[in-house]
Amino acid sequence: MVYTKIGRKKYNLVDLNYFCYCPRCGKETAVPEIFELVGDSDFCITDDVYCEECSEYFRTTRNFVSENIDEALHKMDDKTVNEIVQAITATM
Ligand SMILES: [Zn+2]
Repeated sequence: MVYTKIGRKKYNLVDLNYFCYCPRCGKETAVPEIFELVGDSDFCITDDVYCEECSEYFRTTRNFVSENIDEALHKMDDKTVNEIVQAITATM
């Protein structure tokens, strides 16, 4: 059993509640599936975890972009397309 100690008291890591601050809005956010995340090969304990509202915002935005990108690209000039690509890649 892996545990942490505060003073002399020991706490089983599995029994603890884990939280972080959402990097987008700053809201304190519970991370209930922390051990599943840690088991994911792409996740690092220092990675950001977004709150439910911000996660929904990103899901909605990704869906909107994927549903409308083809039509939008056909209507835009090359300069506008390049500016949008640069804006997207700057946030990655
Ligand atoms: Zn948030």
